[in-house]
Amino acid sequence: MTDTQNPLTLYNSLTRAKEPFVPQDPKRVTMYNCGPTVYSYAHIGNARAAVVADVLFRVLRHIYGEDHVVYARNITDVDDRIIQSAKETGKPISEITEKYARIYNEDLAALNCLPPTVQPHATKHIEDMVVMISELMEKGHAYASDGHVFFDVSTYDAYGKLSGNTLDALRGGDRVGEGEVARKKNAADFVLWKPELDGVGWDAPFGRGRPGWHIECSAMAKATLGDVIDIHCGGVDLKFPHHENEIAQSCCANEEQVFANYWVHNEFLNMARPDGQSEKMSKSLGNVTLVHDLLKEWDGEVIRLALLKAHYRSELNWSEDLLKESKENLASAYRYKARAMELQKLTTDVLFGFDIALYNDLGVLEAIRDIIFSSGEVFQVTNKIAHGEDISWGEARIVEQYLNSYNLLGLLQKDPEDWFKGGASGDEAAEFDAIALRRQEARAAKDWAAADVARDEATAKGIVLEDGPDGTTWRKA
Ligand code: AMP
Ligand code: ZN
Repeated sequence: MTDTQNPLTLYNSLTRAKEPFVPQDPKRVTMYNCGPTVYSYAHIGNARAAVVADVLFRVLRHIYGEDHVVYARNITDVDDRIIQSAKETGKPISEITEKYARIYNEDLAALNCLPPTVQPHATKHIEDMVVMISELMEKGHAYASDGHVFFDVSTYDAYGKLSGNTLDALRGGDRVGEGEVARKKNAADFVLWKPELDGVGWDAPFGRGRPGWHIECSAMAKATLGDVIDIHCGGVDLKFPHHENEIAQSCCANEEQVFANYWVHNEFLNMARPDGQSEKMSKSLGNVTLVHDLLKEWDGEVIRLALLKAHYRSELNWSEDLLKESKENLASAYRYKARAMELQKLTTDVLFGFDIALYNDLGVLEAIRDIIFSSGEVFQVTNKIAHGEDISWGEARIVEQYLNSYNLLGLLQKDPEDWFKGGASGDEAAEFDAIALRRQEARAAKDWAAADVARDEATAKGIVLEDGPDGTTWRKA
């Protein structure tokens, strides 16, 4: 059964089931999406994750109201790859991160992605990260080792619940974990804080350094949305270790059972290989198509529709044909839009005419003239319905407005059937029904003389008989 207040269902990766979505507070629905590390252009696989989150954001706004959904999508502007890029290009870090953050936002805006409600930058939340790491250390979930701070996975029983990890999966701990193995208590421990690199570092009670990737999201989500958030999204590749580690950090630091109530993961966008197989688009495989480049050739809406051509939990094989097909689909949709807009204009003109007349010193007669003008449209629509044809939203609106307009004037307040029976009493109505039936039967028997008698009888009683396809009816004269 659909819950009218919370009509959305979502597949929750955490429980591996489709569940009714119930926010903690419908006046402040919260959603977090891991944003880009800004050292280069976004590829179309990254765009898929952003477009899926944007559709979810739009649906939530539609259900709970535009002002009741808080969507945070961060910018990761501290990362080894950014430091590396600064070294290679000789450019200041801020110049690189600002440039690519701007391009990322512009590319997504071209795909009609709404700006998130908040876009926290990691470098603006270092203090929050330091506080969270300190709390984890105090609570015994983290330990310092050789200038680093690690999260101790053995202290968190629920570790692995999201990814359902195996010991194999646990072996790789974190993204850049290789050199850190010797410093860790458990192979799966992951880094929260690393020593300063090439002059990039911040002072902290546990030594000058820079944050690990996972703690950034936990701290930014807490700062912008709260300790427990409603929805966390991202690509399936982030489930482990990134999201698993976010959960461990946030639950342990905030002393909560959950970090996000619903986890929504999009599947991969794949690229065809020369051998006919397809594989995940990723920078490391060198098979990327940049959103920025595609936008030079294709309209952003064409790209957006192409990205939506597979359900978000299915893989999407990217191809030029997908773009061509999307372009054709949009061309016919725009043709329909043009027609729909004409119809809408017609409706608006009629309504506008009605309001203008009535608001002009209560010009009731002019207003009625406008309704009567619109009656032609209403007649067409009711005819269509009578013939079993579908009607459009615009046409349905004409009918609704027609009725509303009369309500505003305090007219047409009766049921049409009562109106035509003109207040006849029960006995009278039974008598008139009988006369009408006599005429109907006479006509069916082609007894024209008897049919005339019935009509004359009706006239004498002050009613009019009407012969229709469904038989003979009467109304007050
Ligand atoms: P990254 O910059 O690698 O952290 O990725 C940004 C977002 O894009 C994350 O949510 C990833 O999971 C997602 N993502 C990366 N590659 C792909 C892909 N090929 N298909 C779908 N989503 C992807
Ligand atoms: Zn994240």
